[in-house]
Amino acid sequence: MIWFLSCETSDRHLNTFLGPQQFDLNEVNMKELIKQAAEDLAAAGKVTALTGAGISIESGIPPFRGKGGLWERFDPMEIAHIDALMRDPAKVWTILVKEMKEIVDTAVPNDGHKGLAKLEEMGKLKTVITQNIDGLHQAAGNTDVIEFHGTFAWQRCMDCSREYETSKVDISEIPPRCSCGGILRPDAVFFGEMIPQEALWRSRQIAFDCDLMLVVGTSAVVQPAALMPVIAKENGAKVVEINPERTPLTDEISDYLITGGAGDVMNQIIEKLEQIS
Ligand code: NAD
Ligand code: ZN
Repeated sequence: MIWFLSCETSDRHLNTFLGPQQFDLNEVNMKELIKQAAEDLAAAGKVTALTGAGISIESGIPPFRGKGGLWERFDPMEIAHIDALMRDPAKVWTILVKEMKEIVDTAVPNDGHKGLAKLEEMGKLKTVITQNIDGLHQAAGNTDVIEFHGTFAWQRCMDCSREYETSKVDISEIPPRCSCGGILRPDAVFFGEMIPQEALWRSRQIAFDCDLMLVVGTSAVVQPAALMPVIAKENGAKVVEINPERTPLTDEISDYLITGGAGDVMNQIIEKLEQIS
């Protein structure tokens, strides 16, 4: 099956299995959940992480949805859709890409990214599947990062496909152009475009194989990325969410949600894990 980036909610998939939660999440306090996550990580053989825009908020990169999200300012289907890019690249550059470049060029990893890098260093985490295009997991030190929606680190000529490093692209004129005269576009996946096949294939495989999936900072409504925790759960893995808000996964897929920002929660989990391992 060919998958295109879309914004369907995953309820259709979520409703296919699993009964009601075994316990009331509100009654379980945060410290208990941090301890539980550290114990689950210590016990798990194969840990993977699925991350979204929320993990990069503390690095100053706005998410799409939620408070301060880009979608408070514009309609994603107008701007982040491949049809919009093809129709009016200058408009998409002006409203979305230029600002993203200015922010991403200078962003640095926060404690959330560093926590996942630390988990790799501790021999716990192997692969990060990220929906983000900002390169901050690699900058933090994770060595196996699947960029599910491509990367913002490179721009590609829409005519000849020549690649340019984004941080070196001159944006004094918008849209920037290739030496052949073609317009440059981010090497990232726009809504309506296909997910890179290798990224999709590997992600499904890793989701299928893992014992525990950390789901950090994603609203879990962008498909097919939001299916990865469903695949993990269906195949017996624990799914642990870290997010200040509930998501469509929270009640039906996640074993538990640790309510909080990625940096703070990751710091606490690592501290606990170091104590018990
Ligand atoms: P989203 O924008 O839909 O949702 C962000 C999520 O992060 C929300 O669930 C929110 O509650 C949560 N959040 C807010 N603050 C947080 C914090 N401090 N710690 C942890 N979580 C926090 O994000 P999405 O699900 O990744 O979907 C957006 C799509 O847009 C993705 O496909 C992604 O490719 C793209 N995107 C990427 C970036 C980036 O590369 N940094 C930024 C914006 C959008
Ligand atoms: Zn070109």
